[in-house]
Amino acid sequence: MHAQLLKEIEEEITDLLSNLIRINTTNPPGNESTAAKYISKQFKRDGFKCELLESAPKRGNIVTRLKGTGEKPSLLLLSHLDVVAADPKEWSVDPFSGVVKDGFVWGRGAVDMKGMTAIEIMVMKLLKKNNVKLKGDVIFAATADEERGGLLGVDYLLRNYPEKILAPYVLNEGGGLAIPTRSRNVFTVQTAEKGLLWFRVKAKGTAGHSSLPNLADNAILRMNKVIDKMANYQPQVMLTSTVKHFLAVMAREEPALQEPFTRLLANPELSDKILDELAKIAPHLAEEILPRLKMTITPTIIHGGFKENVIPSECEAIFDCRILPGQDTAKTIALIKKLLNDIDSEKLEFEVLQAQEPSESTAETPLYNTIASVLREFESNCGITPILMTGGTDSRFFRKRGSICYGFHPMKPEVISGKVVKLEHGIDERISIENLVFGASILYETVKKFMS
Ligand SMILES: [Zn+2]
Repeated sequence: MHAQLLKEIEEEITDLLSNLIRINTTNPPGNESTAAKYISKQFKRDGFKCELLESAPKRGNIVTRLKGTGEKPSLLLLSHLDVVAADPKEWSVDPFSGVVKDGFVWGRGAVDMKGMTAIEIMVMKLLKKNNVKLKGDVIFAATADEERGGLLGVDYLLRNYPEKILAPYVLNEGGGLAIPTRSRNVFTVQTAEKGLLWFRVKAKGTAGHSSLPNLADNAILRMNKVIDKMANYQPQVMLTSTVKHFLAVMAREEPALQEPFTRLLANPELSDKILDELAKIAPHLAEEILPRLKMTITPTIIHGGFKENVIPSECEAIFDCRILPGQDTAKTIALIKKLLNDIDSEKLEFEVLQAQEPSESTAETPLYNTIASVLREFESNCGITPILMTGGTDSRFFRKRGSICYGFHPMKPEVISGKVVKLEHGIDERISIENLVFGASILYETVKKFMS
């Protein structure tokens, strides 16, 4: 028996998303309160009580809740209201017009992540309207500031009002998009994300005239050694449980991947060689897998020198280091300091700019199983796999407090002119109305099944 898509919500969810996109919440400055108030109005129309919690002027978070009997643990439907900047000159439509055309809702945030906000609003409304008997509370929270680290959003709420949003289970962004394989769609669930460590290195030297380079001590040349050292560092390969699970699923799904992925699972230390071979048949996939097996250290900013004929006494560079779940920030800092000391302990300064812990939730839970069974009700021939994201989401704050958190915004691959396209954070970001209805249908059934 196939489950039914909620065709009847098409117009309402399209309007919701269009209107959310029209409220410009580019962060900075964010101005999420306008969007939060709009959502509150939509909820109040259906008899919900909402709370607007501002972490700073105009930085609104909106929370509401459907009470359950308490027989089951509660579930939070989480999303963020802010978006990254969009340059109208690069777009073929106004990025904040929320225009609907060619079967898509267009605009900044359509995918990341006002589309899921709209889906979660619909799920709450449907649970109430259809009088679903909930055995646990279902909480809705749309928050500020995710794109800049979440300090004024989820972090603020968890520090000041944990009782309002903390839940043992959380559904958020980061996964859900299906990977098209040869014979079927494999839906993803984000169960893990890497952590980040941004650090600055300052190289010192002695200034001088560059016509006599031997008399000076060039800070740029010292920084060159630092960059070289970081680039040549061979981090240990580590298979997290999410990546193991992913490799095992994909080995089953794609005949061409069976041999390399089985070998990789058995011999992670041979990963470089195996991925080199894989690159010959699937270059993009090989590139995607590499950073999921080890820590990465990448220089992103460099400053040094101010005049053509002056050797600078200072040069500084900023590095973005990403660590895997199971790796530790303090140990990583110690490792980087050691690498720097090997070059020069006197003339190199090290400073941590920002650190965010990696996080992982097990896929062995009733919620994961419910997601899998609901997906199969809608698409009997589909696969499902957990994935590790190389970037970060607000899920890390909840995982740190013990919640099981999944990134799950169910979406089929968007195909435009016969090609699968990736649209979040990009130019002409958009989501198909078909995917909005699909996402809402899957999420509604998942919550209903899990909570009753
Ligand atoms: Zn996002």
